[in-house]
Amino acid sequence: MEQEDIIRELIERVAGEVGLIIYTLHPKREFTDEELANELGIEINDIRRALFYLYEIGLADYRRKRDDETGWMEYYWRIHYEREKEVLRKELLKTKKKLQEKLETEESNVYYICSNGCVKVSYEEAMELNFMCPRCGAPLEYFDTSAVLEKLREEIEKIDELLKKIDSEEQGKAEKAEKEIV
Ligand SMILES: [Zn+2]
Repeated sequence: MEQEDIIRELIERVAGEVGLIIYTLHPKREFTDEELANELGIEINDIRRALFYLYEIGLADYRRKRDDETGWMEYYWRIHYEREKEVLRKELLKTKKKLQEKLETEESNVYYICSNGCVKVSYEEAMELNFMCPRCGAPLEYFDTSAVLEKLREEIEKIDELLKKIDSEEQGKAEKAEKEIV
């Protein structure tokens, strides 16, 4: 998957479809939520919610200003496209940590499942149950987690590759900038 797709996926996940629409709009200057709602024909509350989600992951910022005429607080928003990589890296690291924790848990536990699929229990629980399903009485069988582990390892590897790609692009940019200065 390309970086562009991942950032889009990330935005859609945290800020929904409206968030993605706002993001792909590429507004060059500051805007108020009201302006955006009018321009896009989307409910202002949906716009606000999406903007705050973008704010939470560090992709948007706002400043508040009181409108002289109405006396209302206005929010002036800006999307920080230059933070895209930084945010992406942070989110990828967060996901990687979760996957690693899951991997560790799966690796250190042995499970048994009912052959009819009723329950999944630890080895200790299975012993207490005399390796018999408490619901249907069928034998409990060793649950092979190798496929699950492999899947988790693959996902972690994919994230590592993406992180490497992001870093090497950054590196490339820095080198290019350096050459231009020289
Ligand atoms: Zn059962």
